[in-house]
Amino acid sequence: MKAMVFREFGGPEVLHIEELPDPTPGFGEVVVDLKATALNHVDIDVRDGVSRFDFQMPHTLGLEGAGVISVVGDGVDPSRIGERVAVSYIRTCGRCEWCLRGMENICVNRKLLGEHVPGTYAQKILTPADHCLTLPDNVDFAEAAAALSAFGTAWHALMTRAELRLGETVLIHSIGSGVASAALQICKAAGATVIGTASRDDKLELAKADGADHVINYTTTDVRAAVDEITGGRGVELVFDVVGGQAFVDSMFMLRPYGRLVSIGAHAGEVVPFDIIEFFRRQISYISSHTQTRDEMRTVLDLVGRGVLHPRINSRYPLERAAEAQEELVARTAYGKIILDID
Ligand SMILES: [Zn+2]
Repeated sequence: MKAMVFREFGGPEVLHIEELPDPTPGFGEVVVDLKATALNHVDIDVRDGVSRFDFQMPHTLGLEGAGVISVVGDGVDPSRIGERVAVSYIRTCGRCEWCLRGMENICVNRKLLGEHVPGTYAQKILTPADHCLTLPDNVDFAEAAAALSAFGTAWHALMTRAELRLGETVLIHSIGSGVASAALQICKAAGATVIGTASRDDKLELAKADGADHVINYTTTDVRAAVDEITGGRGVELVFDVVGGQAFVDSMFMLRPYGRLVSIGAHAGEVVPFDIIEFFRRQISYISSHTQTRDEMRTVLDLVGRGVLHPRINSRYPLERAAEAQEELVARTAYGKIILDID
């Protein structure tokens, strides 16, 4: 099979196509012939060598993938050959305390595709059969790949961790990113009012088209003052923060009492000053959220199939042009997900 791999850390130029042996499924495993994968910022961190994950070279990137089951191992129903599936990118053990509690997103033995084990920038992937999620008939491979991480992560953060409620006002920082634009759609489907921020007016226009009630360009407008004005000085009930850095620090002052911030990333700054006095006086909660469970992935795929959620696809490239696709990701001009189509 063909795979887009790298043998040394570096820029997009280290990516190249190699012919690798086709995987052979063991007991309980299947091979999925991939049709689409989606890019994530972690791909860049892994390729650059800053991710601190342990893996073997040559390494194949890619968390998300969707395709068709082509080979099944012993113990797997052969009628699953030909099934259209999305592949869960979190390999869980099914035996640890957290798996047994249904919180497999924090499985202590978990391995992530493209991070610890070969990922989905390839024609085929080997995976446990029970990590294949059947696609609704009307969800295509690119939509499925675009939905898995973005919508699944946003769902876990908003619905499971932050317990979003009907009628709440949510501030979404950097609303143009894949996961933040997914959060916008989930918030609107759940009856929330959404305030979105971004650095570019074209992204803010797309967010408005997706239902954002208020948008703020943070390069030209003081976000705290704008949120104060929009909410009549009350503040918001919930902040969805994929950014970290100064946005994380400022969010404390935009939450109303009993407000929550849910944190799922820190691309703009991983270590920040935090005023504990202000924090405890404000009676607010900071909540952390990481990835999702297979059950949550199934939920979002079902909602895509029912037309409630619409994965935003910014652009598509063939697998062979993965380097170019990654450059677009790094430029941060995309609204929604960047897809690689695989033959
Ligand atoms: Zn486990």
